[in-house]
Amino acid sequence: MICPLCGGPLHVDDARRFVCERGHELDHGDVQEAAGVRVMVALWMAIDALESRATALRSLASMGPATDGDHLIHDASEAEKDATLLRTLAARAVRNPDYTDRRDQGVGDA
Ligand SMILES: [Zn+2]
Repeated sequence: MICPLCGGPLHVDDARRFVCERGHELDHGDVQEAAGVRVMVALWMAIDALESRATALRSLASMGPATDGDHLIHDASEAEKDATLLRTLAARAVRNPDYTDRRDQGVGDA
């Protein structure tokens, strides 16, 4: 687990609190919320990157016969499909906020 305040390692101390190496203390609700937010931010960054890639590849393909247009269009379509898949995952995470947090709870209980 990663501390949402400093990005350092987060662990469970003897009092079952979440503490990082810099001394940030978080309760269960903070950790649960941070884990969900972190996943959502990562998903949307990936979606944005894939859509930007698709746009760039389609622009390159439109530049004429000097480019490998068919290959570029194919790769752009694949990037768009991947972005659509990630949008589905992001929507699932919003509908079920616990979806992103169960794994972290399992790690904390180990
Ligand atoms: Zn910290």
